[in-house]
Amino acid sequence: MAHAYIICGPDGVGKSAFAWEMMKAILCRKPRKNGEACGLCPSCRKLKSGNHPEVAVIERESGRQSILVEQVEALREEWFCLQPVEGDRKICLVCEADRMNDEVANRLLKILEEPSGETVFLLTTSRPEALLETILSRCQTVRLRSVSEKEIVDHLLETRSDLSREQAEMAAKLAEGSPGRAMELLDGDLLERTRWALGLISELTSENMVQVMAELKEYSARRGREKLEHSRQRLALVLEALLLNWKDQLIAAEIGEPANGRDFTANGRPLAAWQLERLIDIVFEAERRLLANVNLSLLLQTMLTKMAKILDAGAPTKS
Ligand SMILES: [Zn+2]
Repeated sequence: MAHAYIICGPDGVGKSAFAWEMMKAILCRKPRKNGEACGLCPSCRKLKSGNHPEVAVIERESGRQSILVEQVEALREEWFCLQPVEGDRKICLVCEADRMNDEVANRLLKILEEPSGETVFLLTTSRPEALLETILSRCQTVRLRSVSEKEIVDHLLETRSDLSREQAEMAAKLAEGSPGRAMELLDGDLLERTRWALGLISELTSENMVQVMAELKEYSARRGREKLEHSRQRLALVLEALLLNWKDQLIAAEIGEPANGRDFTANGRPLAAWQLERLIDIVFEAERRLLANVNLSLLLQTMLTKMAKILDAGAPTKS
């Protein structure tokens, strides 16, 4: 058994759950033959109730950007120095390990390097590339795979009787392999709002562009108490949905399959392959600019102007 593990994978894939399962298995007094925890021994019961003396958790406090030096130091003084009370192992779980600045990471590294044979470190992160090389090199990496779209759709339809297949499919697509994210999308009104925005853009022409822009702006600036970050996330979701829709259509067009009926049209007409290609480029560009923190109004204006030109070409000619 290694001394330190990095458990990584996309958001919502179940990294924490996996870490806790691992802890249970390591600490269990009477593990089953397959290595799983028994769930009944004193150690399993203590873990379940959340007060196992051999477990310490380091996580970002709410409202903080990163894990604090003090958190690591406090554990160093009060916990790392102790011998295990029961059994022969202790476990330190570091959640969102990428949320450590260099100072914090170096403190942790020092502890990692100390020859305390009995402590096992579990670090969870969705961005292992953000960890210090010196930490990465001391840990064994466990990569959790994301789940296929079909698996997510099946799971959603099984567990949520209130969902239509279309809703489940859209959430699964936007969730990019994360069942947790798919649930999140469905719990808010995000999905509905995204569909609404898609509908709005499918009606886009040069003539109604100002109107569409005003509505989209209101959409992303809605709910004043929400942070700007949320506006960006909502817009990112719309862009992602556009991209998925147009890419699907392009693939269908290329293999000569009929569109599936929910396709995007330009004012009622199917889009030609050249239009789809151009539109996809425009969305890519907008995504890049969104990441670069460009002003949202400016971004929308540029994007919609370009899109309207492409969509206009598919509109019925005025007599
Ligand atoms: Zn047990």
